[in-house]
Amino acid sequence: MKAKPYIGAHVSIRGGYGQAARFARESGATCFQYFPKNPRSLKPKTLEARDAHACAEYCREHGIVSFAHTPYPTNLAAPAAGPSPRSLMVASLRNDLHIAEACGSLGIIVHFGQFSGLEPLQGYQNIIQCLNEVLADWQGKARVLIENQAGNHGREGMMLEELVKIRELCLYPDRIGFCLDTCHAFAAGIWDPRRTEDLLEHGAKLNYWPHLGAVHLNDSLYDYGSRRDRHAPLGQGRIGMEGLKSLITAPPMQGMAIAMETEKGPDGTHRHEINVVNQWF
Ligand SMILES: [Zn+2]
Repeated sequence: MKAKPYIGAHVSIRGGYGQAARFARESGATCFQYFPKNPRSLKPKTLEARDAHACAEYCREHGIVSFAHTPYPTNLAAPAAGPSPRSLMVASLRNDLHIAEACGSLGIIVHFGQFSGLEPLQGYQNIIQCLNEVLADWQGKARVLIENQAGNHGREGMMLEELVKIRELCLYPDRIGFCLDTCHAFAAGIWDPRRTEDLLEHGAKLNYWPHLGAVHLNDSLYDYGSRRDRHAPLGQGRIGMEGLKSLITAPPMQGMAIAMETEKGPDGTHRHEINVVNQWF
């Protein structure tokens, strides 16, 4: 029997982690994404252990899975020195991992690094070095899940090849997985929804799918290959419902944790879209 994916959306932690899990479940979700701390800052946050454990317990009890999204200023490719050095990224990412682990989450989502002026080879080396430092003494179950880029900040991180190679070159590949963002894949031109089988085959050949740990399920406001990153509600963008369905119902998505990063519906939740996706199974 096929394992159905876990479906949900990004939720706020305004009321704490436990409250986020309850909010997700009340909207019909079996999966959710959250920011472990302020999404605009890299400042480590003190772990609120009681709240985090309440979240983990609630999720276990109700069969819910979750993952954390690292703050926006996180950059795996940050240089060793400068105003936002690697050490700042490492401290923040380790903090995110600890919070995610305490919340019982699968891992932390981090965008592929931004090179902004670096020599490409240096950029890739920085990413590997950063991941090695973050994971050096990490014994938890939560993994670092690297997300593919749309191409809006530069060409890096658009191709599955890059993600697979970075993972292989790190010292701790077992602690690293991937997050596929459907909008980014479409905008980067690596997924043509009329030919989903091509992406499926390509990912299999690269050994990408076995390490997929999460999915961002978003439609795209802009065209295939546009390299622009603007999410649209499911079925209201250029990918369309049939295209999204062709990927989400494919074998690599069995039992996968899938969260939307789209606007909430008029009721303040993603209940409607969650229902739509659940009907695909
Ligand atoms: Zn995303």
